[in-house]
Amino acid sequence: MFESLSDRLSGIFDKLTGRGALSENDVNEALREIRRALIEADVALPVVRSFTDKVRNRAVGAEVVKSVTPGQMVVKIVHDQLVEMLGGDAGGLGGGIDLNAPAPVAIMMVGLQGSGKTTTTGKIARRLTQRDKRKVLMASLDTRRPAAQEQLKVLGEQNDVDTLPIVEGQGPVEIAKRAMTAARLGGYDVVMLDTAGRIHIDEPLMVEMSEVKAAANPHEILLVADALTGQDAVNLAKSFDERVGITGIALTRMDGDGRGGAALSMQAVTGKPVKLIGTGEKSDALEDFYPKRIADRILGMGDIVSLVEKASEAIDAEKAAEMAKKMQKGHFDLNDLAEQLRQMEKMGGMSSMMGMLPGVGKMKKQLDAANLDDNVFKRQVAIISSMTKQERAKPELLKASRKKRVAAGSGVDVSDVNKLLKMHRQMADMMKMMGKKKGMLGKMMGGL
Ligand code: GDP
Repeated sequence: MFESLSDRLSGIFDKLTGRGALSENDVNEALREIRRALIEADVALPVVRSFTDKVRNRAVGAEVVKSVTPGQMVVKIVHDQLVEMLGGDAGGLGGGIDLNAPAPVAIMMVGLQGSGKTTTTGKIARRLTQRDKRKVLMASLDTRRPAAQEQLKVLGEQNDVDTLPIVEGQGPVEIAKRAMTAARLGGYDVVMLDTAGRIHIDEPLMVEMSEVKAAANPHEILLVADALTGQDAVNLAKSFDERVGITGIALTRMDGDGRGGAALSMQAVTGKPVKLIGTGEKSDALEDFYPKRIADRILGMGDIVSLVEKASEAIDAEKAAEMAKKMQKGHFDLNDLAEQLRQMEKMGGMSSMMGMLPGVGKMKKQLDAANLDDNVFKRQVAIISSMTKQERAKPELLKASRKKRVAAGSGVDVSDVNKLLKMHRQMADMMKMMGKKKGMLGKMMGGL
């Protein structure tokens, strides 16, 4: 899985991580090589473009953290971007199927003939039965291929999973309804509906899928697609999603896929998560698709990634402690404010930060009154950046003409500069006040 991409990337990073300093040229060269590696891995072009653009932007804006090399920093940025491209780690994307619905939960399996649909149905049913201790009923709705229903029955027997008795002459919708009724009566937790495939997508197939969907009201509709077909698998997922609506993708034959283009582009192109991957013909060859784990596997640089994470945390803690000390002494100039704004932005904004601190409701109100909106952080940092060093250290120097210059330099009105100065005064007063109540400030800043 992903071997060729993995090899290419490690070659690129070996060159980068050994060096003490990186020029813009080095970074650009690395990005060009990463771009080439992704294209060779058959990743969709728009996905490649957006990937390298985002890495470039993040690399340019990145603060260089003490104790790691710039090359290691780049590895971390590429890793994080890879996780994002694969669907991110938030919001329950990837990582298996969702059974969070009243029983019996219907899972409808769709896909082309030969993609591994029946095999994957059996794999999922086996895992739900053995690992998750659910009572599962499988039903084949494939009335076109004579042996299909029999194939599922055999799989059921091999894996100790019940299958719906075969009744000759019934159509897919009838079978789906019968399966749901049997599951309800039999106290099953999950019903797996293995639908019929075709060689290509065609209109009758889509109509049939929509009818089965309406009859069974499935909680999950999983598209089974062959990873070896690369971008065709991605286009297939797009079509199925547009016509039938899918909740996720199971990618089969990942065991033979050294390139990984389908897995890498799927989420970015279709907006639907890869939930499971098939890694062999045996009925236990099924894995959850976790973006972070996959990114770790592709890069093979887990130690560098965690090194950079730890170093960044240490830097943040150091800065917070330094600032807490200054504030306790009653120093809080505009440099500190700018640093504070940057930190808050990193933390997800003022309101989320305030939400974490107990007993600061009153302070929050005051800050709201000072117009401290999360969205204006950047502009405020820009205003402070347009001031001279002395002005930042001694805000009282900022009289009318200087304010005008600062406003022009940062592209805002003088009234915005005034607002910022007022906010700074209020914050400085508050900090002084809180500094007297020792402990609370330390706690607050430690939490930053
Ligand atoms: P269906 O027509 O979509 O139901 O496809 P099948 O489930 O009958 O699978 C077609 C072939 O692909 C079978 O020989 C399976 O053993 C094989 N297959 C399915 N999934 C995988 C996988 O993840 N890896 C490998 N190597 N083979 C698979």
